Amino acid sequence: MQAFGAIDTVLSRVVAGYGSEYFTPAGKMFLRVGPTAAPYGYPRRNAFRQPILEAQLRKHLAAFPCVETLFGWHVETLTQSDAGVTLELRGPGHERRRARGAYVVAADGASSSVRASLGLRLDGETFNQKWLIVDLEDSPAPSQETLVFCDVRRPCIALPGPNDTRRFEFKLVPGDDPSRMTDADVVQGLLRSHGAAPQSRIARKTVYTFHARLASRWSRGRVFLAGDACHLTPPFAGQGMNSGIRDAHNLAWKLAWVVRGLLPAGILDTYEEERRDHAKEMINLALRMGRIMGPRHWLSGFATQSLFRLLGRFPAIRDYFAQMKYKPKPRFRQGLLLPDGRSKRVTSVGRLIPQPAVKTRAGERRLDDVLGDGFALLGFLDDISLFERSIPHASFRAISARRVLVSETLFQSQYAGSVEVITDPTLSLIRGLDCAKGRIFVVRPDRYVLGAFAPAGADKFAERLTALIRAIAAAESSGRKPDTASHTF
Ligand SMILES: Cc1cc2nc3c(=O)[nH]c(=O)nc-3n(C[C@H](O)[C@H](O)[C@H](O)COP(=O)(O)OP(=O)(O)OC[C@H]3O[C@@H](n4cnc5c(N)ncnc54)[C@H](O)[C@@H]3O)c2cc1C
Repeated sequence: MQAFGAIDTVLSRVVAGYGSEYFTPAGKMFLRVGPTAAPYGYPRRNAFRQPILEAQLRKHLAAFPCVETLFGWHVETLTQSDAGVTLELRGPGHERRRARGAYVVAADGASSSVRASLGLRLDGETFNQKWLIVDLEDSPAPSQETLVFCDVRRPCIALPGPNDTRRFEFKLVPGDDPSRMTDADVVQGLLRSHGAAPQSRIARKTVYTFHARLASRWSRGRVFLAGDACHLTPPFAGQGMNSGIRDAHNLAWKLAWVVRGLLPAGILDTYEEERRDHAKEMINLALRMGRIMGPRHWLSGFATQSLFRLLGRFPAIRDYFAQMKYKPKPRFRQGLLLPDGRSKRVTSVGRLIPQPAVKTRAGERRLDDVLGDGFALLGFLDDISLFERSIPHASFRAISARRVLVSETLFQSQYAGSVEVITDPTLSLIRGLDCAKGRIFVVRPDRYVLGAFAPAGADKFAERLTALIRAIAAAESSGRKPDTASHTF
């Protein structure tokens, strides 16, 4: 949201930094999740209402003159060739239009017709659980935390939302008739017994079947899948849309660089390479959380809840859950990366960099805003000229990297060159990055670390970077062939 320029708008309508409390059938809290750290610049859990968020995104999109939005239009046919992709579109009044592009990103949701037309499967079990979802307005909650009632007789989740909105999710249990679950008396009874404010107004009620599935491949030729079109998760970890946003953040800059001719098209293969494992880990996390929320048998529920209560007596374990350390961090093990020889456990390569507020000549700013939209070289040296001498290579120029030096002792005012000097008063970068002092980190536009090197190893690193980009270009000319078929749906 920050990269897109919409962060302040979005934050104005979220419940920031909320936690979750898990209850036994007897009403005893056995687990609390409430992360307090904000390593990437924001609270880790933020409750949003999707229609509000989507309206905010649409509004911000309108500010980009290069973007044309066509709501209510339907993609009917997709044809791709070596030169590009053509879409035949049908408008709300049955008018027709043709759109051409170098690439297409199909973010057309769970029943993606583009995915089907490309012959890509959705693998995985259909996680066959039905849940009744009830969205409430004018529904003040006693606390801003999510309440999770882990009762085998009726698992239920009550989630806070902005502006006195609240969502209740009730699992359908054996004996429930899905076609009757949205009846007024059933819904009112469930809301009453789970503590909804009596004056609440029902904005939406519907029964969903949740899925846990991944597309067999995420692209074919010049067409890429993103969001629910390529991964479906039950919402217990609140990660469905989050995963889609991660897809967009990974793919968008790569497409932009390829279309402008700045990187070889083979770089686009790293999209699935980098994203697939994390999307899968998030689905598995949601399935595990689902088992805690909705135990299959009262005995397994009792055993799990007792275990959590027992483990909760140990501060380190309590902290592990409270701070959400169980949540898989986005981490690339392969893709557009240059390993730095450090162990996989500690290396920052392939990981997201922290985002503290840093001090710049222009005052305090979020780090990502200082690094800009492109690549950046982030140095941790106390010698500007050594930093400058370490990064003049053609391969760094080719990626037009912005040059930023983090120093506690140097001041920008004493220096007139093109390196931006910043200080990190909270020391979040030094602490959050592996072995930062004395090294230079190459940060990608999506804020993941591509590689890191010490000044003495700068020549070698630059050669490896050039070789990596050449290898990607070579793989592309020998491998990736567009699928030249035409598809109608
Ligand atoms: C009950 C519930 C709770 C959830 N809670 C969370 C949560 O807490 N956190 C979270 O991150 N996620 C959550 N999610 C998941 C989230 O809603 C989805 O992951 C997200 O909406 C997926 O976005 P998408 O753009 O990929 O697909 P969609 O939102 O499905 O959008 C696809 C769009 O493509 C359009 N389309 C389809 N075919 C065509 C065509 N041929 N031509 C033109 N347009 C087409 C559709 O009309 C639609 O507008 C939840 C989901 C559910 C059901």
